[in-house]
Amino acid sequence: MKTVGYAARSETTPLRPYDFERRELLPNDVAMEVLYCGVCHSDLHQARDDWGWSHYPLVPGHEIIGRVTAVGNEVKHYAVGDHVAVGCLVDSCQSCDQCRKGLEQLCRKMPVQTYSDTERFSCDPSTPTQGGYSKHLVVREEFVLRVPEGLDLSKAAPLLCAGITTYSPLRTWNVGPGSRVAVVGLGGLGHMAVKLATAMGADVTVLSRTRDKEVDALALGADRLLVSSDTEAMAEAASSFDLIIDTVPVKHDLNPYIPLLDVDATLVIVGQIGPLTEPSTVPLLLGRRRIAGSPIGGMAETQEMLNFCAKVGVLPDVEMIRIQDINAAFERLEKADVRYRFVIDMASLPLPDAA
Ligand code: NAP
Ligand code: ZN
Repeated sequence: MKTVGYAARSETTPLRPYDFERRELLPNDVAMEVLYCGVCHSDLHQARDDWGWSHYPLVPGHEIIGRVTAVGNEVKHYAVGDHVAVGCLVDSCQSCDQCRKGLEQLCRKMPVQTYSDTERFSCDPSTPTQGGYSKHLVVREEFVLRVPEGLDLSKAAPLLCAGITTYSPLRTWNVGPGSRVAVVGLGGLGHMAVKLATAMGADVTVLSRTRDKEVDALALGADRLLVSSDTEAMAEAASSFDLIIDTVPVKHDLNPYIPLLDVDATLVIVGQIGPLTEPSTVPLLLGRRRIAGSPIGGMAETQEMLNFCAKVGVLPDVEMIRIQDINAAFERLEKADVRYRFVIDMASLPLPDAA
């Protein structure tokens, strides 16, 4: 199937229109028209090859809301016209212990990423994957999610990455009423962490670089905002959190945050993928504190998160853009100048000729 997207051709070139093909439907494939796609900081990292594993041309986008246009003859759960979602993964081995537990994000053979990866399991292994900054998408049924009734399609896209990446650690570390949760960095992931932790009944603190986002933080549901460079306020907050979710997208220093954990509490890194400034082990050992990491979530947990958001009315704060504005949006994202997630209205992308 011919389609069109916006692709980076190298780590230094802006995204531009790109004609390419989606595979012909396999028996368990779902084809969809992409309606909306969120703009994650990972899209920017990958377009610029910050992690060293980008494949070009690279069509980013892993926060995808679509409408089903066709289904393969073995598809059981979706029909033409259904509203569906796709996140960061489009395949996994389906047979290892992690996949069998519904933890496809931890597949022993590595899951297939929605873009900048190659198919390894269900179809020709040389096929590159391309993301949601495109008109159409074809994904095997097991990696398609249902958008629950009542969830605003124009706002739901960021749940597929920012939502699940923060929901999963909140669930893993059993956050509930009375839990004391801190969120480092109030961006796309951070604002979802605040909304979700608040909806779970936690007491929520935002740790931000300045006081600029204080009004927003409180409006999002946080109980307070602490400025991370305010050493006095940080000292007063010592040993006061059960869970800290760190969403900072670059190399940074954990040392100011570790002493804020209570005994046996955990700082979970979901932001920076790569080196950090050396943390001291002193507060880790003396306070029996923990540092952990967490990648997105599995398919079952992602569906659970979508259903939870529909039930409690949690949605991201979005700024809608046209695909033609994506390069300017990337520049603003780099400066943390978005409150709090760009979403591309894919109706702005014209259909390819003779599609
Ligand atoms: P974002 O919208 O740009 O938000 C990041 C926030 O971090 C900013 O709003 C800012 O908050 C803070 N920040 C930015 N630059 C900083 C710096 N130099 N030092 C300290 N704080 C800084 O990004 P995002 O989309 O939320 O993504 C965050 C990170 O998570 C990215 O690296 C992304 O690749 C990663 N990610 C990981 C997973 C996973 O599976 N674990 C999934 C998705 C994304 P303040 O202004 O409040 O300080
Ligand atoms: Zn993402």
